[in-house]
Formats: sequence, C-alpha cells, structure tokens
Amino acid sequence: MNPIELSFEFFPPKTQEGVEKLRATRAQLAPLKPKFVSVTFGAGGSTQQGTLDTVLDIAKDGIEAAPHLSCIGSSKESLRAILNRYRESGIRHIVALRGDLPSGMGEVGELRYASELVSFIRNETGDWFRIEVAAYPEYHPQSRSPRKDMENFAHKVKAGANSAITQYFYNADAYFRFVDDVRKLGVDVPIVPGIMPITNFSQLTRFSEMCGAEIPRWVARRLESFGDDREAIRAFGLDVVTDLCRRLVDAGVPGLHFYTLNAATASKAICERLGL
Ligand code: FAD
Repeated sequence: MNPIELSFEFFPPKTQEGVEKLRATRAQLAPLKPKFVSVTFGAGGSTQQGTLDTVLDIAKDGIEAAPHLSCIGSSKESLRAILNRYRESGIRHIVALRGDLPSGMGEVGELRYASELVSFIRNETGDWFRIEVAAYPEYHPQSRSPRKDMENFAHKVKAGANSAITQYFYNADAYFRFVDDVRKLGVDVPIVPGIMPITNFSQLTRFSEMCGAEIPRWVARRLESFGDDREAIRAFGLDVVTDLCRRLVDAGVPGLHFYTLNAATASKAICERLGL
C-alpha cells in the first residue's frame, strides 16, 4: 500500500489508435495501484460521449474512474442527463468544474461557477457522488484577487466537495501557502497537488500561458537552452519534477494527481524514483 494516494488524469481519445494507446498507458500505470483515474471533459459537452466511453472502458479493468464534468455552456437539463447516465453506469466519483468556453462559443449556460455545479450535483443526486473540485495555488487567471479566489474556492468546497485537485505548479511554496491560507477559511478537505511532468517545453509554455501556472525562470531558461534535444529536456524535467514531488511527499501531502496527457513514461518514472 502506498503511503500516499496516486491518481492519473487522461483525456478521451478521438481515434481507435488513441483508444489503444490509452489502454497501453493504463496497463503501464496499473502496477502503481492508483486510487482512481480521471477523464477530462470538453467545455460545452464537446467530448461528452468520449468521456463516458473512456470512463466505462477503464471501469471494466476494475479501476475507479472519475469523469470530469464542466458546467459552462450547458443547460441544467443536459447536466442532469449526464449525471443520470453516470449514475446508471455505476459511476460514483466526479470532478466538477466550471470549464472554459472555447473562443467564439457564445452561451455561458445556466450555471456560472463550479460552486453552482457542486450545489446542483448535491441537490440532484445527494451523496451518490464523491466530488472533486479544482484549486489554484498560483490563483485562477481570471480571479479578481488572490483573496477573492481563495474565498471562492472555500465557498465551492462548502457547497459539497469532498476533495480538491490543484492546477499544476512548480513552486512548492505557492502550494504550501495556499493550503495554509484556505485552512484558515475553514477548508478541511484534502488538497491534492496536480503534477505536470515536463517532457515538451513548447507545449508546456503554451499550457502554462493558458492556465496561469508559472514556469520558474531558471527552469524555463534551462529547458530553452536544450533546443530540440528532447532527451535532455526529459532528463532535466524528470529531475525537477521528482524534486518537487519529493518535497510535497515529505511535507505530508495526501496524494499526487498526475496530468499524464495519456502517456505513462514520465509519470511512472517520477513515481518509481520516489519509491511509490
Ligand atoms: P470556478 O471555481 O468556478 O472559478 C472560476 C473563476 O471564477 C475563478 O477566478 C474564481 O475565483 C471565480 N469565481 C468563482 N466563484 C465566483 C463568484 N461567486 N463570483 C465571482 N467570481 C467567482 N477544464 C475543462 O474544460 N475540462 C476539464 O476536464 C478540466 N479539468 C480540470 C481539472 C483540474 C484538476 C483543474 C485544476 C482544471 C481543469 N480544467 C478543466 C480547467 C478549468 O475548467 C478552468 O481552470 C476554468 O477556468 C475554471 O474552472 P473552475 O472549476 O476552477 O472554476
């Protein structure tokens, strides 16, 4: 039994080849005995069927699978229909998010914030689901202020979340400070760090600009200096992210949630180095 709980995040594959690749990834990660795995959901329901199909495929292997569900751009009726399908399929764990509207997509939908989605799920389904929500140690990019963001987070947890998973970060102190501060606001649920392995600098830069996660200057400069040398990027990334995880584990975090991007190698190597 691992002292800390591991979870892995996947996205729903769009092709049969992607489905096979994800099965292979899951088989490689299975020996790490994840507590659960989660499957992302496109805002406005764009990957609705893919998320359900992927979750059901995973559940067949006896692994607990939690679909993500975002509310932006969706009606209550469509969210209710999705929740009912999950219930009928025996799914009891869900990651509740606001989501981001793809640019050009107009309608916000009936629920504006993840806290409203959490309340909606609790009203509709009682205690059927274990609900995870998102947390931002470096603050959500659209938040009015860090303080407001933490208050909104606390409000979202109090609406009925059981646990939180953070956006990825490379500054452990941001996580520690965030956890201390939201505890003072009455948040008592586990806050599991989200971990993004580093394997591709340009992709990481793109993601980080979108989600507001900082790549520390010294890390960015080193990664940039490797140019197209993917092996050097991977090796350095493995060192940096393993050190981050070691600090987090030593500090007693409840778990680690890996953003795998449907690839096993980097997440597995980090866990093995940590002896998990
Ligand atoms: P919220 O908690 O609603 O917060 C969004 C913003 O609104 C914040 O700035 C917050 O401070 C503010 N806010 C909240 N309540 C109020 C209020 N009452 N008044 C004023 N402001 C308020 N996206 C997807 O589309 N699909 C996914 O599968 C997905 N998975 C994710 C998994 C994790 C672990 C994480 C960390 C993020 C994920 N995202 C996903 C991205 C997420 O949808 C975006 O970060 C989105 O911009 C915010 O979602 P949220 O649930 O955190 O929103």
